[in-house]
Amino acid sequence: RGLVKYYPIGGGPLRRVAGQVKAVDGVDLTLGPGETLGIVGESGCGKSTLAKVLAALERPTAGEVTVCGRPVGRLRGRALRRARRDVQLVFQDPYTSLDPRMTIEAIVREPFEIHRDLAPRGDRRARVRELLETVGLNPDHCGRYPHQFSGGQRQRVGIARALALRPRVLVCDEPVSALDVSVQAQIVNLLERLRDELDLAYVFISHDLSVVQHLADRIAVMYLGKVVEIGGEDDVYRNAGHPYTQALLSAMPVPDPGLRGRREEIVLTGEPPSPIDPPRGCSFHPRCWKADERCRAEPPALTAWRGAGHAVACHRPEVWSPAGGTEGEVSA
Ligand code: SF4
Ligand code: MG
Repeated sequence: RGLVKYYPIGGGPLRRVAGQVKAVDGVDLTLGPGETLGIVGESGCGKSTLAKVLAALERPTAGEVTVCGRPVGRLRGRALRRARRDVQLVFQDPYTSLDPRMTIEAIVREPFEIHRDLAPRGDRRARVRELLETVGLNPDHCGRYPHQFSGGQRQRVGIARALALRPRVLVCDEPVSALDVSVQAQIVNLLERLRDELDLAYVFISHDLSVVQHLADRIAVMYLGKVVEIGGEDDVYRNAGHPYTQALLSAMPVPDPGLRGRREEIVLTGEPPSPIDPPRGCSFHPRCWKADERCRAEPPALTAWRGAGHAVACHRPEVWSPAGGTEGEVSA
């Protein structure tokens, strides 16, 4: 609720605060049991910061994360450690997130050294082998080191480590974007199987809408630290109302060749503006082809749009479909 995460940026020998990076700037999200929420946006939009705040690795500047009824920010010591188990992070880069000096067994076992009550010492070896099997790795290879595995296999190790604490939620921050395209589908399929077998809920973060589409029940689109569109997977793909979402959708490959050429290509010019000094009004206005005076002055609030639970932060939302082009202006 109301999540904000600002980072001060220091300047000079006096360590005066020169400004702040508004990485996450007022985000509300809910995640139900067994649900997958996809979070999509360009790099720098605050997705990874949000992931760390959700997993209680960073304290929010304002707002609150509640997990299974427990307000994580107000917990300390053992209660905080206990609550952190419930939400585990799977990192983007399986090449740097595993310690190269540790064996796979030591890596997957490490959470048990911190949360000792979870598996008695004598059971840990067996539990590690079981976890490796769960993620599709040969448990007999548990004495090997990360460099002896491929990128996809290393990401499986990262997932096994995240599962060690029997979490309710996995926050997956770009879990496949460092991998070859041929391996990406295998990891997405693995995550899908684990979700069903272990009754997990996911926050699945990606810059790529086509990766998220397969897994997500709902999608949140982020731009400069804010959610600009959120809704059911189908609603967002078919009835996207925010120009930014439409631009992301138009960049997706169209699987049906008959539709190619019929859809309108939206090419965004420029990079997202700096989160240190975001534009006034709608932060998307410098790149938006529909921007007018109101957009430059007044920030749009997330407002209900079309389907149930579908909301768009835009003064002039308009239906656009990846197959057809815009349908004309509809007032929300
Ligand atoms: Fe574009 Fe205005 Fe909508 Fe922002 S509020 S996305 S500038 S039309
Ligand atoms: Mg990131």
